[in-house]
Amino acid sequence: MKIKDCIYWLFKNSRQFHRMIMVCTLIGILHAAISLYFVYVCKHLIDIATNVSDDSLSLYIGWMILCIVAQIILAAFRGKLTIRNEIGLRNYLHATLFTRLMKGEPVELGKFHSGDILNRLESDVASVTETLCITIPSVIITFTQLSGALVFLTLLDAHLTAILIFVMPLALLLSKKYILRMRQMSREIRKTDSSIQSHIQENFQHRVLVQTLEYTSHSVKKLTSLLNGLNEKVNQRANFSIFSRSMVQTGFSSGYAIAFLWGVYGLYKHTITFGMMTAFLQLVAQIQRPMLDLSKQIPTFIKAITATERLAELTELPQEEQGQPLHLSGKFGIRIRQMSFTYPNHQKQIFSGFSHDFQPGSLTAVVGETGTGKSTLFKLILALLKPQEGEIIFYNEHQQINASPLTRCNLSYVPQGNTLLSGTIRENLKMGNPSATEEEMQKALHTAVADFVLDFPDGIDTYCGEKGYGLSEGQAQRIAIARGLLRPGGILLLDEPSSSLDPDTEQLLLQRLSTQLQNKTLILITHRDAIAQLCQYTLHLKTSEE
Ligand code: ATP
Ligand code: MG
Repeated sequence: MKIKDCIYWLFKNSRQFHRMIMVCTLIGILHAAISLYFVYVCKHLIDIATNVSDDSLSLYIGWMILCIVAQIILAAFRGKLTIRNEIGLRNYLHATLFTRLMKGEPVELGKFHSGDILNRLESDVASVTETLCITIPSVIITFTQLSGALVFLTLLDAHLTAILIFVMPLALLLSKKYILRMRQMSREIRKTDSSIQSHIQENFQHRVLVQTLEYTSHSVKKLTSLLNGLNEKVNQRANFSIFSRSMVQTGFSSGYAIAFLWGVYGLYKHTITFGMMTAFLQLVAQIQRPMLDLSKQIPTFIKAITATERLAELTELPQEEQGQPLHLSGKFGIRIRQMSFTYPNHQKQIFSGFSHDFQPGSLTAVVGETGTGKSTLFKLILALLKPQEGEIIFYNEHQQINASPLTRCNLSYVPQGNTLLSGTIRENLKMGNPSATEEEMQKALHTAVADFVLDFPDGIDTYCGEKGYGLSEGQAQRIAIARGLLRPGGILLLDEPSSSLDPDTEQLLLQRLSTQLQNKTLILITHRDAIAQLCQYTLHLKTSEE
């Protein structure tokens, strides 16, 4: 991504904060102007004290105090505003990026590791926020201060300004080669940082597995090696930037020495006053400090450019089709015609010219060997994946609609495995239908043979941890089914709903589902013949080569 595009991205994604950032910058400029005036006041005070000027001493002392008080007040106010902007922008970026990610095209999102995404949301957002709320205003203020100080110094002594500008090699830091090298290093550092976060997150999530496989030492070793890699890269970057900064600092120190000696020579020759000498030294400090600040801000800016690239990758992810949901009323079915599907960048064709009709109100079992594409069929129906050929149509007596993210409102899907989120059982159930009543929740729990929840001391308000921690697999599975049942919509898709249930509970579940959901079209994936036999229809999937 070009630097120009990164800057445009930053500009576009912080639009509503520009005004406040500008206010902060203006306060900073005012602060800088006062510090220049302060130099003038000091010069004058010394000139009065050394009888070069006969202005009123008390008037200038008054100005001096006023300058100090104003600077303190402005700095405090700017500090407060900066923090407010920073928090506001960070929250805004988090919310915007999270929304975009949650609405993203599932196949594209699948290419990212969740640890990498988290790392981008945390570190890259922090870096971008810091740049927008702190670095950019500081650079503007610094430039203003620098220009003011240079003009002031030129008015006092144009030769000295010319020498100072020549000696201070800021250009070194701005050189293209320096920026390219720093960008490359920052990119590698951010990538390694993401791998570290992904490793920690994944291993912690599967800590029981790692512990029981006695893989902890390997996992720690891998983390250590990643951390060492990061260490090395950060050191490399630090060495490179310290070398460049030392060069600049040498220039600055020479600048100060020149100004001092210039002043001493002037005093010796009686060409300047003591006041002028003080003004020289203060002004050189006012030029040096901003220049040093600028040289420090360049690496921060480069880091932010890398961070922007990484965030822009997320905002540029294709989004799912957005719009008004397309509801179908009454009983309806799904007709699949001549559908072919292959996962992007994969060879194996999962479906080839596949056709099937799931009739309105029917109960179908989808069976087949593992890996034949049963879960993929559900994802195609849910429009999480798009077939390359053929079509999937939702139909009733009056309507026919092609499957898309907008038809998802008609579907209720219970995925394979444990899919509870941390929180209370009530919160989990409400995900299915936020306006579900107590009675509806109890009914859904009953149909899903999950009445056991009501016997818990806290009942429906029992808290469960991540992935249903604190519940058995079979219990979590039935609560997930109840959540699916609460969702309005005419089609219920259950992916191996009884894989963790004993045969009796499994039979009871199917009985309740088939009697209580007569208006819905039910499709369930199962590996069990006993369940398939209880269903009205059976769809047997085979690998497309068979
Ligand atoms: P199981 O009974 O084990 O759950 P399944 O019939 O549900 O199996 P699917 O999950 O639909 O099988 O997978 C079908 C095939 O697609 C498998 O061969 C699998 O390797 C492949 N597959 C699944 N997900 C992806 C993906 N995201 N990218 C590429 N290939 C995939
Ligand atoms: Mg499956």
